[in-house]
Amino acid sequence: MDGDSHSSLWSKLSKLFSIRGEDNLEQVIIDARKDGELQQEEGNMLLSILQLGETQVQDIMTPRTDIDCVSAGTSTVDAARSILKSGHSRLPIYQDTRDNITGIIYAKDLLPYLVEDCAKREPQTVEHIMREPYFIPETKLSAELLQEFRSRKNHIAIVVDEYGGTSGLITIEDLLEVIVGEIEDEHDAPREEDILRISDDELIIIGRADLDDLSDFGINLESDEMDTMGGFLSLHAGHVPHKDETFHFVGWDFVVIAADAKQIHKISAKRSQPTKATHA
Ligand code: ADP
Repeated sequence: MDGDSHSSLWSKLSKLFSIRGEDNLEQVIIDARKDGELQQEEGNMLLSILQLGETQVQDIMTPRTDIDCVSAGTSTVDAARSILKSGHSRLPIYQDTRDNITGIIYAKDLLPYLVEDCAKREPQTVEHIMREPYFIPETKLSAELLQEFRSRKNHIAIVVDEYGGTSGLITIEDLLEVIVGEIEDEHDAPREEDILRISDDELIIIGRADLDDLSDFGINLESDEMDTMGGFLSLHAGHVPHKDETFHFVGWDFVVIAADAKQIHKISAKRSQPTKATHA
């Protein structure tokens, strides 16, 4: 958004407030969008900004299992190779296990070690150039983290659970995506859709698909404990379901079509007769 459209949006907003005499900002935006006083896009973006104040980092972080990282003691050259392979510009360093993240290496800090005359210096390990990780709890609100990223001039944080274990990783891009939707950068590999519609009565669902997103496809599964489809089925089964295990919920048949010992990767969902939840 350029400076002009930015200021015109805020002047529109202050006008709306004075006219409507509402003190619920969300309602003001919804009404103004409905009445055409705000464009659809502008309204949606403002509502998403408000949503940042309610979204916990654990809802939008990259989960622990998807973090690309390197172990302590890795040489700078091998770390550069890992960065190239992962396509991410920063990798956490761990000592012994992923639960013990001790630093973060930045691609740009590695560059001098790859230039010929510097590379002749003594071989270095990542410990020499890594930066301090910034640890945050899973429950931190995204709006608060955005402020912290701005004031600390650091745009990556490691999310830890209440026992100090690594829960995930979050960057400023994850926060901005809440506001403006998916941002694809030059290195993002095309991502497999989390939910693929085959027909009105059939879907393919990736294990990490969000339960909330399934409701857009007419599947309303609710859980206080789990956010993902894979987690939901594992909770219901009491173990990590294996390939071909089937479930029936809310009028749909779910069949696990790909899984390993630790997680479900893919599920097929076909509409059936509405029945009470059962597990075969
Ligand atoms: P980059 O350009 O280095 O990938 P971004 O800040 O643009 O970093 O993040 C893009 C996405 O990649 C975000 O969803 C973020 O959580 C994720 N991400 C960043 N670094 C890593 C990493 N080392 N391992 C896994 N995911 C990462």
